Amino acid sequence: MTDAFRTITFQPAALRAVAPSYYKLEMPRDYTTPVLDKLQRPLRDLRISVTDRCNLRCTYCMPREIFDGSHAFLPRGELLSFEEIERIARQFLRLGVQKIRLTGGEPLLRHGIERLVEKLARLQTVEGKPLEIAMTTNGVILARKARALREAGLDRVTVSLDGLSDATFKTMSDSKVSVATVLDGIATAQTAGFDQVKVNMVVKRGANQHEIVPMAEHFRRSGVVLRFIEYMDVGCSNGWCMEDVVPAREILDRIALHYPLQQVEPSQLGEVAERWRYADGGGEVGVIASVTQAFCHECTRARISTDGKFYTCLFAGSGFDLRTPLRAGINDHGIANLIADIWRQRDDRYSQQRHLPTERARERVEMHYIGG
Ligand code: SAM
Ligand code: SF4
Ligand code: SF4
Repeated sequence: MTDAFRTITFQPAALRAVAPSYYKLEMPRDYTTPVLDKLQRPLRDLRISVTDRCNLRCTYCMPREIFDGSHAFLPRGELLSFEEIERIARQFLRLGVQKIRLTGGEPLLRHGIERLVEKLARLQTVEGKPLEIAMTTNGVILARKARALREAGLDRVTVSLDGLSDATFKTMSDSKVSVATVLDGIATAQTAGFDQVKVNMVVKRGANQHEIVPMAEHFRRSGVVLRFIEYMDVGCSNGWCMEDVVPAREILDRIALHYPLQQVEPSQLGEVAERWRYADGGGEVGVIASVTQAFCHECTRARISTDGKFYTCLFAGSGFDLRTPLRAGINDHGIANLIADIWRQRDDRYSQQRHLPTERARERVEMHYIGG
């Protein structure tokens, strides 16, 4: 994407001057064909970061030495309100989004999050189907919230857990939370009636690769789908290096030594996880090989940061301010056209280019703010 396009900051007056059509627009432009980016990718998924705060300090995401002390989290007034999120979400749906994932930071820390789920659950996709709503959470307070979230209309929940032993979990999450607390959250989610509960485990060499097989053993035959995520160079604070990445192949090989695996066909375009099933019928596992097998060519995901910036890639350095025009009175058609025009300019494919020295050196926004 050209820098000139990315760096437009939409101050109300500037927006009117740069793009008066966004404000004046009364009729939507023609969206009968899907809105495609420069690499012909449609807009299908939206991830919304509802808070930049978290009750854990995972070393690969929010290292304590950077995010405690002087780090300034967003003040309340900077956050999109639930009404603003709903308005933006509606416009994304008009452009083809079929699934929204609420994330953060820790989404369960956002006060009244069930009310947002309830609002979103009333929305429909452009084909008139119910919108699919998912959430990624660290599970720490899920046991308390799971039933209310399900009743509010949340369809799916993914819980992050990086190991089964308290020692590993405490080191990875840099907290005093016990594994039992997260397992309790997972069990409550299962009984609350979610379509499918998934567990995400980030694997970092030298930190938790010894937990791969115990985690696989624990979640086999449990109804939970465990997915292993390659450690990524998101943001600029985690000190990532390629040597710390355990490739998805190695993860699968370790599991297959104990439990033979068979590959499962992907069920939809843009599915990030490669799916495998246990040959003995013990269920499914997945790997998200974002580093060693980049899937940018089919990436249909957009992200909205906690303060309402639209990011077209997880590894972007800057986003497009939607909150300012929203608060300055832009109408719905204007928002939809703004989003569509930004998407049409998109040519991001960082994971396929991270080996280039120019890409590695770029500033990248932090994951808890943009939404994981
Ligand atoms: N706090 C919630 C949680 O942890 O599930 C939601 C936000 S978190 C940023 C979303 C997901 O991103 C989690 O599954 C987390 O493990 C993953 N994640 C964070 N930093 C990562 C990194 N550097 N590499 C790979 N995955 C990462
Ligand atoms: Fe918090 Fe999730 Fe980041 Fe861990 S991965 S620090 S739980 S936002
Ligand atoms: Fe999508 Fe960017 Fe990740 Fe590629 S690097 S898969 S474009 S978010």
